Amino acid sequence: MISSRQFFLRYVAQTSDFPQMLEIDRADGIWLYDLHGKRYADLVSGISVSNLGHGHPEIVRAVSEQAEKHMHLMVYGEFIQSPQVQLARLLAEQLPDNLDCTYFVNSGSEAIDGALKLARRYTGRPDVACFRNAYHGGTTGALSIIGDERLKNPFRPLVPGIKQLEFNDSESLNRIDSRTACVVVEPIQAEAGIILPREGFLQKIREKCDETGALLILDEIQTASGRTGPLFAFESYGVVPDILALAKSLGGGMPLGAFIASSRVQSVLRRNPALGHITTFGGHPVSCAAGLAALKVLTGDKSILEGVVQKENLFREKLVHPDIMEIRGKGLLLAVELRNPEQVSRFMKKSLERGIISDQFLFYDRAFRISPPLTISKKEINEVCDVILKVLDLISDR
Ligand code: PMP
Repeated sequence: MISSRQFFLRYVAQTSDFPQMLEIDRADGIWLYDLHGKRYADLVSGISVSNLGHGHPEIVRAVSEQAEKHMHLMVYGEFIQSPQVQLARLLAEQLPDNLDCTYFVNSGSEAIDGALKLARRYTGRPDVACFRNAYHGGTTGALSIIGDERLKNPFRPLVPGIKQLEFNDSESLNRIDSRTACVVVEPIQAEAGIILPREGFLQKIREKCDETGALLILDEIQTASGRTGPLFAFESYGVVPDILALAKSLGGGMPLGAFIASSRVQSVLRRNPALGHITTFGGHPVSCAAGLAALKVLTGDKSILEGVVQKENLFREKLVHPDIMEIRGKGLLLAVELRNPEQVSRFMKKSLERGIISDQFLFYDRAFRISPPLTISKKEINEVCDVILKVLDLISDR
């Protein structure tokens, strides 16, 4: 009999020649169950998406209630749809005053593309500054500003006017000038292997933007919704962006992205030309209902965000091993650095066999990722750390 596995390889377009090919039947909390009932601990959260774990009852209820009422009605921006309005309002309540107007889209890449269009249109300037080893998405606009030539080069020509700066290098910020429409930066570079900004670096970018009139776009697509402790990572660094790009966890497990700015800035997309950015499914009512439920849980139950740092500390305390060179990151966005890339590959394979789902980084091969649902319990952390340490013993070169 032909298996789903064969159909998957035959009929579904692939992103690489080596897909993981786990076939998950159901998921609950931090646990994923395959067709044979084998249980896996999710230490990736679908790349920082499932911050409240899988099957959160409030999110499931919101999705089914909204699906019963109505799904898609009209392209984004024409009809008043209650889940969109409520989510935009709650976001504005949680954000600084200048971030009070949300444009909903479908994904992180579209949020970045929309933010780039907005910044160019608002400032009337051509150039965009971004950083080496940054990841912002796969559509042509977002791809143009990622900081990795290997991924970009085969698709050139890309968007012109891109200046690539060095993350954590204040000198390179001098290339931001009066032609720069915006500076796009992740507050913590995720796919670079979880690189934290040096003390004062984000503030320096903010100052340079203020000096030159460029807009600051923060890509919080991986870092928002409490992933690093506070609701938004920028809260830890005392920097407020002009445009905030969100996606991933924003939809509580459903596809949803957004770029958020002031009404004054956003208003330029509605005139000369009208429909400056349009999207059919952006802000889908079911996605917004899920996102609203997730944000209500995160803001209503303070213990979730407060627990993030304690849980980070527990991972750091437990994961002591001669092959762990460093644990980098903030909150539950962690990179565990091993001795070499081969060790990481062996770790990925063996840990999966032992029921742990981790992941590597796009632009860094000496570490594996720990970014579980924020709702992971202390008991679960102890359990998964014991397995990780055992796997490290098994694959050690020593
Ligand atoms: N920005 C960052 C920081 C990301 O991590 C990602 C996705 N990994 C994106 C943008 C693009 O998001 P999407 O895949 O939803 O287009």
